[in-house]
Amino acid sequence: MSTKISGNLGYPRIGGNREWKKAIETFWKGQITEDELHEKLTEIRLNNWKLQRDKGIELIPVGDFTYYDHVLDTAVMFGIVPERFEYTGGPVPLQTYYAIARGNKEAAASEMTKWFNTNYHYIVPELGSREPQLTRNNPLAAYVEAKEKLGIDGRPVILGLYTFLKLSKGFGASEWDSWISKLLPLYVQVLRELKEAGAKWVQIDEPALVATVSTEDQERLNLIYSTIAKEVPGLSVMLQTYFESVDLYKELVALPVQGFGLDFVHGKEANLQSLREYGFPAGKTLGAGVIDGRNIWRADLYQGSQLLDELSKLTGDADLVIQSSCSLLHVPVSAQAEDKLETVLSNALAFAEEKLDEIVALSRVAAGQEQSDLFDQNRQALEALASDPARGRNHVRTAVEQITQQPAERSSAFATRKLKQKEKWSLPFLPTTTIGSFPQTAEVRSARQKWRKGEWSEAQYDEFVREEISKWIQIQEEIGIDVLVHGEFERTDMVEFFGEKLPGFAFTKGGWVQSYGTRCVKPPVIYGDVDFDQPMTVKETKYAQSLTKKPVKGMLTGPITILNWSFVRSDISREAVAYQIALALRKEVEALESAGIEMIQVDEPALREGLPLKRKDWDNYLDWAVKAFKVSTSTVKDTTQIHTHMCYCEFHDIIDSIEALDADVISIETSRSHGELVHSFEEHTYPLGIGLGVYDIHSPRVPSEDEMIVMIERALKVLDPELFWINPDCGLKTRGLEETVDSLKNMVSAAKRYREQM
Ligand code: GLN
Ligand code: ZN
Repeated sequence: MSTKISGNLGYPRIGGNREWKKAIETFWKGQITEDELHEKLTEIRLNNWKLQRDKGIELIPVGDFTYYDHVLDTAVMFGIVPERFEYTGGPVPLQTYYAIARGNKEAAASEMTKWFNTNYHYIVPELGSREPQLTRNNPLAAYVEAKEKLGIDGRPVILGLYTFLKLSKGFGASEWDSWISKLLPLYVQVLRELKEAGAKWVQIDEPALVATVSTEDQERLNLIYSTIAKEVPGLSVMLQTYFESVDLYKELVALPVQGFGLDFVHGKEANLQSLREYGFPAGKTLGAGVIDGRNIWRADLYQGSQLLDELSKLTGDADLVIQSSCSLLHVPVSAQAEDKLETVLSNALAFAEEKLDEIVALSRVAAGQEQSDLFDQNRQALEALASDPARGRNHVRTAVEQITQQPAERSSAFATRKLKQKEKWSLPFLPTTTIGSFPQTAEVRSARQKWRKGEWSEAQYDEFVREEISKWIQIQEEIGIDVLVHGEFERTDMVEFFGEKLPGFAFTKGGWVQSYGTRCVKPPVIYGDVDFDQPMTVKETKYAQSLTKKPVKGMLTGPITILNWSFVRSDISREAVAYQIALALRKEVEALESAGIEMIQVDEPALREGLPLKRKDWDNYLDWAVKAFKVSTSTVKDTTQIHTHMCYCEFHDIIDSIEALDADVISIETSRSHGELVHSFEEHTYPLGIGLGVYDIHSPRVPSEDEMIVMIERALKVLDPELFWINPDCGLKTRGLEETVDSLKNMVSAAKRYREQM
């Protein structure tokens, strides 16, 4: 008789009220001691375990908790400290740990980058000449702690060696094998100590297995897992994948481990197909990731049960661990507090806590017990939401259907628009502009707070925003910028601002998720059909335009960025949601145009980060993403100039799609890419208007005119000067007033000097 038990892959660290963030940040400020920090974080960690135990989770993850980031934890556990930080071996001091993550006076922080296709960011390990060593067995410490303090026999989690190396930098392709030989014995030691302490199962996370795995890498995986099997007999390894299906199923299940964890939410069909085709090795355990660790909706448990039945059949009734599809770190902690939402919506939510209940409910049924009430409760909640009027906006559905059947193109090609626009705008050669936002000073933030709290009336707040706009129009005029912006003072966040005004969106009270380090974000929830209600940006933009003869550029966030930075409903495709947003934005674009705003920027900084994990899925995504942008921007007159903006992205592999956006002008962040971006234009002539950021906005330093001239010269070696714009890298909202003014003055003089010398 096979066993069916419940498990979880990881739990949010941040605590129900973001206590984790507060504790760490007060420690950074020197307001609590290191001991006090340990005490506070230990409390959160123990609470998380207790909660999982009380909910009935049988395989509780231990070792997934962190003081900042789990990838950084893995690096320092092996003594991998970048060479620019002082370190002489042994356990890495907490100060050094945080210095790697955040930088200190002497040394810059390590790079931070996105964890697969999530909005979580990890610290990129830098492998250098320091010899790795086991400085502290973190999973062991967690295992022992859970056992001694709570009697929990947990399942230790460790980031697998293959994925760890895939995510690291500082070594060449030829050094892979030498790094494996340095680190593998340390992994063996960690696992051996765990086994000696009594651990039965260990969860080794290898999410990199969902991407393409080369033949060479397959051999490396063989080496890693057969060594572990040989050196640590008797410890059961759950080789855990998530976020997508595995391409190499057949090879993967041939590895000498005791369990394979697969994602049956994201990549479900392909993983099921592999099971159907190749079966499942006898005597092994399947980690069945059936509860979505990436979204916030209740699960249909009847469907979940059916899926588990099918999995049982396909695996010849193998042992199953019924678990989350990935760590629950990507969802907020608890939906209990969401009492401000409409009931139909709050009832349909399942955050981490609620997902634990779902895992347990499913696993009990799989183990032969009765269905709990949760089955019907979830069904009813989902049905109620499905029949809510917010999901029944038929005019939106019809419009989306029409859109999918028609092209979304500007009425003339760029060559024609370019001439007409040149005539209409008569801008100087190498026109100057900015990306949209100006400093959000403490004053701006406190004005918004007063208005939100009701201390200020709408009229008072409006007046305040008007004064800011007027001040900055004057500043821009004085500096001599050619295309002005209103400054975005009325916006906290570029997605939230639009979400609050578009029907179909909702905002939770406590739906925080960790983005990087202690930074948490509260993504909007797209739960209904997205509709256009009334103009969202016309008032401020029109006001700004009334103050100047120079053009003021309207400023919108694009459909793909709004989509990628929100929690999205899962009953219709992301593509369909993107078109709904795009159609609403089209109305905004048209409203701006009718109001006389005929330069309009539609920002898409998150276009690239929405790329699927598997290369083969890229084209499909890029097709609809580009189309959604064009749905928003294609109905304007030839003379109306559409701008877009992207923060630095690896540009070369999606350059065709960026060109296909057909934006009259794009501005991109460049200065931190050390000229890499400029190189992409050596092979590829970019035929539309383009501004490569001439200075880094992430630092308070005021760049000199000369530095910017260098940037301009470098760009003009590969780009057509007739199409080139001069602008900073990104919005200026995080900067101070003086540094912004000084930097922009230098930017404008650089442009002027360059124009004269041409
Ligand atoms: N228009 C936005 C701003 O200037 C763009 C921000 C972004 O690219 N992330 O703030
Ligand atoms: Zn940007």
